[in-house]
Amino acid sequence: MKTLKLLFAVLPVLLAGSPAGAAGPDWHKYEIQSVSLLRDYLRIDNTNPPGNEAKAADFLVGVLKDAGIPSSRFEFAPGRSIVYARLKGTGEKRPLLLTHHMDTVPADSGAWTVPPFSGELKDGEIWGLGAIDMKTTGILHLMMLKMASESGKPLARDLIFLAVGDEEEDSAGMRWFLKNKSELIADAEFALNEGGTIKVEKGHPDVYQVSTVEKAPLWLELTAEGAASHASEPASDPAVDRLLRALDKITRFPRPVKVIPSVELYFAQLGHPDIKKELLDPAAAAAILGVPYNKAILTNTISITQLKASDKINTHPNRAQAWLDCRLLPGEAPEDLLAGMKKAVSDEKVTFRTVLSESSKESSPDSALFRAIRKVAAEGDPGAIVMPMVLTSSTDSHYLRDLGIAVYGFEPYRLAEGEERSHANDERISAANVNFGLRFLFSVIQEAGK
Ligand SMILES: [Zn+2]
Repeated sequence: MKTLKLLFAVLPVLLAGSPAGAAGPDWHKYEIQSVSLLRDYLRIDNTNPPGNEAKAADFLVGVLKDAGIPSSRFEFAPGRSIVYARLKGTGEKRPLLLTHHMDTVPADSGAWTVPPFSGELKDGEIWGLGAIDMKTTGILHLMMLKMASESGKPLARDLIFLAVGDEEEDSAGMRWFLKNKSELIADAEFALNEGGTIKVEKGHPDVYQVSTVEKAPLWLELTAEGAASHASEPASDPAVDRLLRALDKITRFPRPVKVIPSVELYFAQLGHPDIKKELLDPAAAAAILGVPYNKAILTNTISITQLKASDKINTHPNRAQAWLDCRLLPGEAPEDLLAGMKKAVSDEKVTFRTVLSESSKESSPDSALFRAIRKVAAEGDPGAIVMPMVLTSSTDSHYLRDLGIAVYGFEPYRLAEGEERSHANDERISAANVNFGLRFLFSVIQEAGK
């Protein structure tokens, strides 16, 4: 009973600002269902490792079945599943894929106020590991299929539901799916996945951040060779000295500024109408690039993050190593960056090994889906800023972009500073946000079908 009271308490506020308008679905029913399903989903422990996504899949398949929506499941590893469902539309437009990951990072339960798998509803908030990253979005996606199915009116686009596993570790779920079952989603025009949210700050317009691109990781291992010797009588040119010289050259390696379309629009909406011109002025460029996020979205970054040499203070090792985390802008070839760095180092006793290299493609910030998000935001939240965002880290989205799908990282939750608790203790989301997200996503899907 307490649950219901709390839910109804937040409803009047939501109805006032509803992006979907008054007519349409039975919102009371769907809001209560969403919160209840979310609480059940959060009670499943999907800490990765080991993920245990089969348990999450049992739950999701069950909910889809109750809604009369057939689904398929696949095992990408023992005890680890993927759930796929497709709700047919009229076929007038190409499908929209709604995808999320079922796994979460581990919780430090001792540091939580409530047990991390309690799914507790407390003071209007639903608590649990994965509430922000990203089980709530999974429930909203599921609700979109359920609502469309129950409406009896087919949408212009098929809605595809895809729940994967292992995003938090190695993306094994999405990689397995794309390797073995990509034909099931290959016709999708658009996808929605994790990424940006709605930033809310008193006295400022709300900012809807929609990620259109992720930087491509290029991880490198550098090994410098030299003769081992006692530190009291060093051999000439020890490995550590070689490595340091190489790393010094790498720290000074040029990282030219490049403005991609999403970044140009991002700055324009922040009051920089001509960022390319502004960056030509050295003082302005220094101020802009002085902000770490700006630098990350305007340049390739090269970070030296790990070092290894002798384990004894009095011994020169015969090899010294460093590991680099480079992140490339879309359109930049990893092999070019690598060749450039090798040339800058120019030492045959320093070798480079690629540990990881992935691609980066940008989805247009001016597509039917992006415009739908923009329109729904403007209708419910006049004056709001809707901007494309570059994710400097990685999600599963870039794999889907490689398939030719335009992917947008957007989860419609209004979060003030401190409320973005992804990978943090006491992760939770307000029922108001679940309800807002439900309406927002519903409106976006309707709009994208026009
Ligand atoms: Zn996530």
